[in-house]
Amino acid sequence: MKIGIVGLGLIGGSLGLDLRSRGHEIIGVSRRESTCKTAVQRGCVDSASVSMSSLAATEVVFVCTPLGLIVPTVKELITFLPKTTIITDVGSVKTPIVEAIHPHWQNFLGGHPMAGTAETGIDAAVTDLFVNRPYVLTPTPTTPPEVTNCVEAIIRDLQCQIYFCQPPDHDQAVSWISHLPVMVSATLIHACNQERDRHVLDLAHKLASTGFRDTSRVGGGNPELGRMMAEYNQEALLKSLNQYRHDLDRLIELIKLKNWQALEENLQKTQQQRPDFRVCQDYSRE
Ligand code: NAP
Repeated sequence: MKIGIVGLGLIGGSLGLDLRSRGHEIIGVSRRESTCKTAVQRGCVDSASVSMSSLAATEVVFVCTPLGLIVPTVKELITFLPKTTIITDVGSVKTPIVEAIHPHWQNFLGGHPMAGTAETGIDAAVTDLFVNRPYVLTPTPTTPPEVTNCVEAIIRDLQCQIYFCQPPDHDQAVSWISHLPVMVSATLIHACNQERDRHVLDLAHKLASTGFRDTSRVGGGNPELGRMMAEYNQEALLKSLNQYRHDLDRLIELIKLKNWQALEENLQKTQQQRPDFRVCQDYSRE
């Protein structure tokens, strides 16, 4: 197929590498000329330019720009496309994107490949980024089935695990397992650094080991991404944060009351529940 990719960064570039290796012709569009050149040199795309008019003859376009630019990008893109072209995106929040695009383009399907690395930009693009990773598609009742089938067939070839759900369900689920952890982890780093005794703080910095490394990792990531999670997924994130605060208050109460039995029972329950989260199954005994 002739496939367009707008936004040649980590996700767009990686998609390009894999889709090209499956025999598709990939036409890239990015903001900077230098990125377009690198994308061609690295084999992410067959050709690339900074002009969306180059996508006029594509059958499917993946929009892989930063989250806040997906809707404006699609609005510009559709001025160059025939009505038959299918557009899909990779944004990590779905409801505001799907709601904003549907009135403008019938053949749109929201998507979210749940894969990434700590790096960004075209130099970070890698092959097989999506293998065995979840890829969520969010068709709505008005999405034509042939649009869903077409995007599904393209991404199934990447060996990812495809899930279908409604945009609000996606947003609440990723709020629990991705956006809440970022906020909790960032708060952990901040709270530790509130220690007023300089000597104790220095000691804590030096003693921090694997437990702190694991629990602080996502809170020490890209601040721009964290801000976007909150900005575009505000409602779901607030629901998750309020529940978290409620649970934390309960924990504080148990410790205040020296109710060690109830505390241990709580921890036994969470120990048993952790393997329910698929990614944790191999690590449930760590
Ligand atoms: P990224 O590495 O920063 O790539 C985005 C690229 O978009 C940039 O390299 C930039 O290329 C290009 N761009 C910026 N503005 C543009 C514009 N107006 N028109 C065309 N291209 C433009 O970011 P990413 O991590 O790939 O994320 C892209 C999307 O994937 C986001 O919507 C994010 O929510 C989603 N996502 C990310 C991850 C993750 O873990 N990173 C996972 C799943 C989904 P230039 O060099 O040309 O400026």
